[in-house]
Amino acid sequence: MARTVPRPEMTLAEKAYVPEIVKGLKVTMGHFLRGLFTPETLPVQSYPETPSVIPRNYRAKHRLMKRPDGEPRCVACMMCSTACPANCITIQAGESADDRIEKKPVKFEIDLLVCVFCGLCAEACPVDAIRMDTRIVALAADSREKFKVGLKDLMSWEPKDYPDNDTQSQKAPGGLLNAEAKKQWGIS
Ligand code: SF4
Ligand code: SF4
Repeated sequence: MARTVPRPEMTLAEKAYVPEIVKGLKVTMGHFLRGLFTPETLPVQSYPETPSVIPRNYRAKHRLMKRPDGEPRCVACMMCSTACPANCITIQAGESADDRIEKKPVKFEIDLLVCVFCGLCAEACPVDAIRMDTRIVALAADSREKFKVGLKDLMSWEPKDYPDNDTQSQKAPGGLLNAEAKKQWGIS
């Protein structure tokens, strides 16, 4: 059924346009002068001089978690690559030197240009080996190949960049809990 949209009658001043243009210019000039003399009062962020505050639970660039001895926690089970809807994770499994662990990745590559940052890989991982909490969102490179990040890149994070109460991150080399975790693992 057709619906009649009410059209309010314009006043004489509105029909003349000029007063409305002046009103608009007043608002524009107000913002311009505020920006000129008191820029700190404007609700804007001076990016990139002031970096954005990215929440820790934002789905940003991936990282691979590390065991206390620095080896990847990943057991090359392929669950992340199976769950990945973009099919952008390539894993090649190899034997782990640790008797308690069957496999480890010898190649783990994510094509960040293909990734849709859905987070399903992190959800699927049974051992919390892949996380997307790096808060790295400004990804730039000068070739497509450089967007393919491998084991070295995914594991090049420092525990100091993660909260002290993040026990899993702090057990990694360089972390606050590393010495304790190594003792528990029986490694020097
Ligand atoms: S975030 Fe999504 S698209 Fe990206 S690697 Fe993980 S599962 Fe694949
Ligand atoms: S799901 Fe976890 S353990 Fe399995 S291959 Fe992926 S990152 Fe490794």
